[in-house]
Amino acid sequence: MTMRKCKLAILVIAVLLQVHAGAGYLFGQNAQNPQPEPITRQETLRGSITPEREWWDVLHYHLQVEFLPETRRLKGSNTITFKTLKPGNKMQIDLQPPLAITKITHSDSQLKFEREGNVYWVMFEKEIPKGTEDKIEIFYEGVPVVSKNPPWVGGITWGRDDLGEPLIVTTCEGIGASIWWPNKDHGADEPDRGMQISVTVPENLVAVSNGRLKKTDHDVAGKKKTFHWEVLNPINNYGVNVNIGNYVKLTDKYQGKGGVLDIEYWVLPHQKEAALRQFKEVPRMLEAFEHWFGKYPFYDDGYKLVTVQYPGMEHQSSVTYGNWFRNGYLQRDPCACGVGLKFDFIIVHESAHEWFGNNISMKDAADMWIHEGFANYAENLFVEYHFGKKDAEDYVIGTRRGIRNDRPIIGTYGANREGSGDMYPKGGNMLHTIRHVINDDAKWLSILRGLNADFWHQTVTTEQIESYISTRAGIDFSKVFDQYLRTTKIPLLKYNVKGKNVSFYYERVVKGFAMPIRVIINGKEIQITPSEVKQTFEFSEDIKTFEVNRNFYIEAAKSDL
Ligand SMILES: [Zn+2]
Repeated sequence: MTMRKCKLAILVIAVLLQVHAGAGYLFGQNAQNPQPEPITRQETLRGSITPEREWWDVLHYHLQVEFLPETRRLKGSNTITFKTLKPGNKMQIDLQPPLAITKITHSDSQLKFEREGNVYWVMFEKEIPKGTEDKIEIFYEGVPVVSKNPPWVGGITWGRDDLGEPLIVTTCEGIGASIWWPNKDHGADEPDRGMQISVTVPENLVAVSNGRLKKTDHDVAGKKKTFHWEVLNPINNYGVNVNIGNYVKLTDKYQGKGGVLDIEYWVLPHQKEAALRQFKEVPRMLEAFEHWFGKYPFYDDGYKLVTVQYPGMEHQSSVTYGNWFRNGYLQRDPCACGVGLKFDFIIVHESAHEWFGNNISMKDAADMWIHEGFANYAENLFVEYHFGKKDAEDYVIGTRRGIRNDRPIIGTYGANREGSGDMYPKGGNMLHTIRHVINDDAKWLSILRGLNADFWHQTVTTEQIESYISTRAGIDFSKVFDQYLRTTKIPLLKYNVKGKNVSFYYERVVKGFAMPIRVIINGKEIQITPSEVKQTFEFSEDIKTFEVNRNFYIEAAKSDL
């Protein structure tokens, strides 16, 4: 989602608001209960592949929704085109109250359905055979949940812009897209053929959504306009968004690795000048990330920045932006080292998610580090590309100050529960550490590009990412991933120096952890491979200074061994 980590800036507000369960991503929030709550049935329905989800695969969504600001209601339908993977007659559709499904049609007939909390059970007249392509249309309406703190608390914001004009936005990461439209609300199933989003609004407003605007209908008598947006690629549910306001469009083009990329900036009229100045960051971002990760994943859907009243969010091909047209994150520096003020955090971080989050998407929210760890790491790669290695190292190492080691980065599977907010800075520093273990920049670059090419437009598990990196590096990183993703312990290197000899071993590590590191002895860099068993290394002369290369995220303590 947006960089939750940098909620540091609004920590106080967020803590006061008691960010919703499962969203323990605050970078610096209060300690949480270490004992996870038992998984509820509603969480299981939301977060797992239930039998009623398993038998069908979403091919396409066509969401048609009218926003009614006067009554703060939504009214619309979603046509779901799907293919059956096995025979089935009972389907799970997610839609959260107070929104309600009013009717479901299948060909010429209406289907029966019943509600169980956030889930509807839809009954077909008869079993649909395996291998069938079919569709249903789900009609729904009601007063949707209002977001108390976008984007971290999901819902609709019936807001106003700086000039008092309506500015209505959706945000739903974590809580799920079913907070505002009916769908199969699980990360593992994205619509293979993309999505159409038709948004009807009062005629004086403009609705901006994902992908490309194909046409606009004007209902003069009804004083309404409908904006038809089209996404050609698979899209994760939480990446779907609608922003309604007094928008104007600025356009640009970027000559990149995939040809000419169409860029649009949807901003408010009074923001034009600031946007033209600050959004010069966009081509710089594209250049850096196409270098590190390969071509932008959605050339046919274009790239957009859309201004909103919250900091930002990685809505696919439609990144939302509210970072005050200034560098840093809300003018703060995530690394507290000065480097964070050299770039626009929201443009860089949220756009990094086009590769890690939207191109490569997690199947289960427990694996959200794949989005946020890599996005945090990508910030330092952007810095390296434009400002050099020293700044990049200062940056990623500087973000360690936000690591809390409160609970593991990997969350609870099958329950839509994310892990610790450490997934940002600790995830980024784990990747930085792995790069330095590999110690071969060309190989590391090929791994980053390979991930995006080989998992192109796919949903993945952490195991896939972990084994991919190990295989391509030719180094077994399984214990490193276990250590940093599945425990809250940071490896501690205990060492002692006597004359020419240094003795050392790891404490606080998972069994079998033996990560090579580089240490600097009398100014000379040496690789050692500590383990839980004490080893002694003999240097060529008396050891006067001993330190660990700072790029390895471990702690070190001198003691009598
Ligand atoms: Zn993020």
